[in-house]
This record gives sequence, structure tokens and C-alpha cells, in this order.
Amino acid sequence: MAITVVGSVAFDSIETPAGKKDRCLGGAATHFSLAASFFTDVRVIAVVGEDFGPEQEAVFKKRNIDIQGIERAPGKSFFWEGSYLDNLNEAKTHITDLNVFASFEPKIPEAYRDSEFLFLANIDPVLQRRVRNEMPDVKLVAGDTMNYWIKDHRPALLQMLKGLDILLINDTEARMLAGNNNLVQAARGVLNLGPHTLVVKHGEYGATAFFSRNSFAPKGEGLEPHPFRAPALPLEEVVDPTGAGDSFAGGFFGYLASQRELTPATFRRAMFYGSVMGSYAVERFGTERIQALTRKEIDDRFILFRELTHLD
Ligand code: AMP
Repeated sequence: MAITVVGSVAFDSIETPAGKKDRCLGGAATHFSLAASFFTDVRVIAVVGEDFGPEQEAVFKKRNIDIQGIERAPGKSFFWEGSYLDNLNEAKTHITDLNVFASFEPKIPEAYRDSEFLFLANIDPVLQRRVRNEMPDVKLVAGDTMNYWIKDHRPALLQMLKGLDILLINDTEARMLAGNNNLVQAARGVLNLGPHTLVVKHGEYGATAFFSRNSFAPKGEGLEPHPFRAPALPLEEVVDPTGAGDSFAGGFFGYLASQRELTPATFRRAMFYGSVMGSYAVERFGTERIQALTRKEIDDRFILFRELTHLD
């Protein structure tokens, strides 16, 4: 099954306690698609500028990611600069240059229209909603957002949320979106806004899924409404947290798309595969680690994750 993803493809300049890296390949759709490509076919919709060349293109091609939906426009690609000097779990944004994204009109290639899965990576909710509406036949829609849209673009975000099955955000965003500091109450609030499943990412502490009663699993065997938590792997060094959330989403959604049936068990495993991909993403700057990853390394770490919380 194929996933279509819409979101940013960018250049990132990043500073962390481990060092500094200028203009590495980044963007939410980039991190997502690289991670998901280990599990299923991935198709990207985005826009890039003249600075996106064969070197960047090769990163996607090497993972067999379909980039015919990445439009070229005159000008520069989206640029983001951020640091994590005080807190590795939260990026401090210094510069966001939308550049060619400022006038982006997503176009869905004909060849993408039979995708069963749609991921709306972090981008203007107006565009997320437009893509969602243009793909009415998809089986499952998941998406992400960030504090900027929650604070300053709330009406558009609320419209977008109505078209989502699964929302993946971090704890601060969940609390901000619901206007409630208690995570369980906040989750209930978010689940009333549209998505039937909410995956809250806790950075180095893992991720928790919350379900409303009509969650996605096949009728008659729906997931219990109680939450499910997947741990994160305690790591000796986090080099760069950028893209961890998107890599989690890529592993999570990619695994779901690779399964014939969506059951409570596949959902739980998907949470673990998300954690596996997030844990690898942070080991090097930008997309470096995921680019060099092998399927065997993913499977080995999955076993490690199981052992991390296994009781008997
Ligand atoms: P995360 O997985 O949350 O660490 O996402 C990091 C990626 O999000 C970086 O590669 C950035 O290029 C991208 N990004 C940062 N700000 C924005 C924004 N306002 N819109 C879209 N993408 C963004």
C-alpha cells in the first residue's frame, strides 16, 4: 500500500550541544518519507527552489521514494534554523524562511491518486485540508502540526482536524491545542475535535496513544479506549533531535500501511516501529542516520524495544 505525504522539504541549519550543521537536507516530509520508505511505497508532494539539486534528489531516489510531486519553483527552498542548546526535547526556532512555500499550491499527480494512506506533515493547515479534500478515497489519514499553527491559525487548524483519523503531536502541542495542562483531559479534548486517535510524542520519554470509542480498528474488535504507551530507547548521546517526530510518524504510518489489516496488535507494533525510527533519527545530524540505515538494524532495535519493557 502506498502513502502520499504532503509537507515541507527544506534546508535546515541546526545547533545542538553536539555541534553545528549548516543547510542539511530537512523538512517534515523529508524525514517522514525516508523513515516510511523502509516499510512501504512513499510519494511526496512539496515544493522546492533552485537550490534543491541532484544531491538532494538522490537521497529520495536511493530510498525509492516517488518525487514527481515535488514541484520546482523559481527562488529558494524552505529554510529553517533552530537550536536545542537548553532543552533537547524542544527546538528553539531562530529563522523560518518560507521562500517558495509562501505561494505553494499543492498539485496531486495522477499517479498518486490510488494511494490508500495519506500523511499531512507539518505545513499550513489550509494546504493540508486542501490535499485531504482532493483525496477523498484514502483509507486512513494521519497528520501533524506545530505550536505556530495552534497559536496563530486556529480556525484553519480546527477545519483541518475534522478530516483526520490520527493526529500525531507532542505533549506541549496537545496541551496547547486543548487548553488543558492535564494530558489525559487534553487528549479527550483533542479527540473531540475530529481525529479518533491521538498519538502524543514525549521526546526522549516515548509516545502515548489515546483513542476515542470509535477508533479505527475493524468493527467488533476496536481498541479499548484506555491509552497505550511505547517507550523511547535511553540513548547515551542525542546528536540532533530534528526530525525525530517526523521519523516516528514515518515508522508508525509506514508500518501501518505495510499491514494487510489494521488491528489493535498492528497499531501497537506501529507505535514501537515509530519509536525505533525516532531513536535512530537522533543519532546523527539531519537525515544522515536514516539515510544509512538498514532493515536489519530496524528489526534488531525493535527486539531491543520489546526487551525494554518485557515483564516475564
Ligand atoms: P520535527 O520532527 O518536529 O523535529 O520536525 C523538524 C522538521 O520540521 C525540520 O526539518 C524543519 O525543516 C521542519 N519545519 C520547521 N518549522 C516548520 C514549519 N513552520 N513548517 C513546516 N516545516 C517546518
